[in-house]
Amino acid sequence: MQQQVLLGLGGNIDSAAGPPAQTLRSALAMLEGPGIAAITTSCLYATPCFPQGAGPDFVNAAAVLTTTLPAQALLERVQEIEARHGRRRLKRWGQRTLDIDVLGYGEQVLPDRATFAHWRDMPLARQMAESPSRLIVPHPRLHERAFVLVPLNDIAPGWRHPVSRKSVSAMLAALSEQARAQITPLKEEHQLPLAISGRQV
Ligand code: ATP
Ligand code: CA
Ligand code: CA
Repeated sequence: MQQQVLLGLGGNIDSAAGPPAQTLRSALAMLEGPGIAAITTSCLYATPCFPQGAGPDFVNAAAVLTTTLPAQALLERVQEIEARHGRRRLKRWGQRTLDIDVLGYGEQVLPDRATFAHWRDMPLARQMAESPSRLIVPHPRLHERAFVLVPLNDIAPGWRHPVSRKSVSAMLAALSEQARAQITPLKEEHQLPLAISGRQV
């Protein structure tokens, strides 16, 4: 069965492909392949490093695609793309060449609602120390991150979170003006070439 998938991408250190904007461009181009089609991408955005002060600013983007791959196979595919861009998992939320998160997989809540809620409600201190060993969808921090919601709002403003039922635009509007203002589009010359950009022009 075909599913609509939302991805969040980010990076804040150079990879063999180049600086983060170039890495994201390369990763998006690599996504196309067996079982993945109709990729639409957001603009590229500069976003402050999270947690603050832990390294250079990030470049973030989002992508929407349709896939026939099961969720786990899709995660493996994006992790392979991360690895091919030199991603090392050294430290939770540390600096990275490329991070690709599965933000949403159709209307599905995986592995189940109770596990999703456990990760969504985890206190920050524990989130820093623990990371899930299996796929949790929707991404449990999606609703609180401006660097995820601003790019996603470019391409999927009407997508509804399957648990809260809130749309992307409503989740974004619920964040503070200050949080939203920190996410700024890169200059036009650093944006994706139209060949891999689904942006409206
Ligand atoms: P965060 O998930 O808070 O954004 P992170 O992206 O830095 O943090 P990673 O080190 O990239 O965390 O991922 C840790 C583990 O999370 C991965 O090994 C992966 O198996 C798992 N994981 C669980 N749910 C997801 C998801 N929706 N998307 C991507 N990885 C996930
Ligand atoms: Ca992430
Ligand atoms: Ca990740």
